[in-house]
Amino acid sequence: MSKPKPDKPEQTGLSRRAIIKGALAGSAVAATSLTGPALAGPESVARYFDAVVVGGGLSGLAAALELKRQGKSVLVLEARNRVGGRVFSFNSPGQFQHLTVDGGAEFIGDPQLRMMELAQRYSITPVPTFNQGRNIYYRRAKATTFNAQGPFGAVPIDYGVFQLAIAQEAIRAESKRFPVGKPWLHPKAEYYDQMNFERWIIKHIVSNAARNLMRLFCSSLLSVHPSEVSALFMFHYVAAAGHEDLNGSPEALSNVEARLNGADIGGGQQYILEGGAQQFAWALLQEFLTDYTSKPLGQPRYDTSVLPDFDRNSERYFEYQSGLALQLESPVRKINKDQDSGIFTLQSDRLRVETQQVIVALPPAVIKNIEFNPALPAGRMQLHDRMPMGSIAKAMIYYETPFWKEQGLTGQVISDLSGDSGPIDVIYDNSPQPTADMPNPPGILIGFISGKAMRELDNLTNQVDAEQDGSGDFYQQVRERCINSLVQYFGEDAGADHVLDFALNRWDDEIWSRGGPTGIGTPGVITGFWEQHLREPLNGLYWAGTETADYWAGYMEGAVRAGIRAARETL
Ligand SMILES: Cc1cc2nc3c(=O)[nH]c(=O)nc-3n(C[C@H](O)[C@H](O)[C@H](O)COP(=O)(O)OP(=O)(O)OC[C@H]3O[C@@H](n4cnc5c(N)ncnc54)[C@H](O)[C@@H]3O)c2cc1C
Repeated sequence: MSKPKPDKPEQTGLSRRAIIKGALAGSAVAATSLTGPALAGPESVARYFDAVVVGGGLSGLAAALELKRQGKSVLVLEARNRVGGRVFSFNSPGQFQHLTVDGGAEFIGDPQLRMMELAQRYSITPVPTFNQGRNIYYRRAKATTFNAQGPFGAVPIDYGVFQLAIAQEAIRAESKRFPVGKPWLHPKAEYYDQMNFERWIIKHIVSNAARNLMRLFCSSLLSVHPSEVSALFMFHYVAAAGHEDLNGSPEALSNVEARLNGADIGGGQQYILEGGAQQFAWALLQEFLTDYTSKPLGQPRYDTSVLPDFDRNSERYFEYQSGLALQLESPVRKINKDQDSGIFTLQSDRLRVETQQVIVALPPAVIKNIEFNPALPAGRMQLHDRMPMGSIAKAMIYYETPFWKEQGLTGQVISDLSGDSGPIDVIYDNSPQPTADMPNPPGILIGFISGKAMRELDNLTNQVDAEQDGSGDFYQQVRERCINSLVQYFGEDAGADHVLDFALNRWDDEIWSRGGPTGIGTPGVITGFWEQHLREPLNGLYWAGTETADYWAGYMEGAVRAGIRAARETL
């Protein structure tokens, strides 16, 4: 028997503001158990939306906004108690509460056209990443420095640098003609997809120093060892670091500033965002939920005073205009489809909703948390198994001043983690600019812990609570180790006596991310699964999320691009 199409929103009284009360746990990341009981029983009567977006990260929010522009009623279901997903800005600890730092994504750059557009649209200010002076390269338990503006940019002058330059040229040549978004069309797709990137490194580079630098290139981008990713995936990642008029290059991907034929083309680490990257999520949400674009031009278009205040507001359900809504703390557990009517029923912890179109805006590894009925095609499920997340955390270390600047250093470090320098392998300067209110701002270094070093820390303990309040053994141990890393790189000026505060943001232990920065392509996944499954719609199911993007897959830019693309596919 075919199921009748449920009533449209206006007929079910959707415009009535529905509020589900509950305390929000500050800005801390929700740690809802996957298997534990739901926080509140789902509404027994399903409500209908034209489209439902699963996931309130940048991709889901960009999709929701695009669907709104199509005139559809839209609901975003988000598992956490906040929007933004892998973009998460929080107040610094202790005396620096007034300073926002990014525990997840933070950099954007000129080649990321959508992010630059959004920054302008929402008056979010990109601040150039500090890049004046010398970078530190730590290898074989020894720190050396090199000019950040030198001929090789972020690549240190090491024994193997010329070999590395040749290998990079090979990647650049691949990149120029690479079919971005469709890597399976590369003439040697099978060959490169069967090969892991470590094998490619061994095959093309002889010098150990250059091999190490290429390994660092991979692990600093993906937070995994090169043996874990397909060489084809790596080439695609590089080629995708551009836009429709210019394919990417290793420099555009990993440099603060990249040049091409003498011209400045910007780079993936070019700017950080004043006030934090999560403003993109709040601004997209604000535009989705309100008639935001009607503001006159010339005025700031992103107005925090009218944003839903997630920290203090005890509502988890935001319904602004008829047919537009966001439900937080509402992980989707099941997506059932009635084969006769084509109607999907989504079961989340707080709502049961019906719709004809579902956009799933999650990393592939996280989609596995959802039970689909009927089951997804075998290839789609296997794709989820073959795109695991990298292992990553970010540490923020606060000093009275950015002392490294006085030493002519940028604050940037890359390290092979030799000696006992671990766990931080990549560092950037995140110090705020002096202002009238804060003429002497503190120095802030952000350190990435990734891949093997992160897995070792993950294995240390499961004391998640202790970590969050900053008092547990795990947290103290990580703090000590991170400060030790910095002492190896910067000397005693970076020592514990000089550290004013410390913060840590882990991702591997978050069930709604399972790591970061992105889902990686293991050998064989592109040629075996991508063409058929990565973004191919499935009778009303559409796939967003940065992992499905063409350009800048793995980045905020890719997330936004993928969200818009998936929403347009619904037409
Ligand atoms: C440490 C770190 C540093 C990074 N640095 C940068 C950077 O400098 N620049 C850059 O551009 N990118 C960076 N990235 C990558 C960037 O954060 C991501 O590419 C981007 O944010 C992905 O957005 P998304 O919407 O595709 O996915 P996500 O942000 O993962 O969004 C998915 C959303 O779905 C929710 N969800 C999960 N399961 C369910 C469910 N069952 N039901 C409902 N909701 C669910 C999640 O809570 C989440 O909000 C970084 C990432 C990390 C982790």
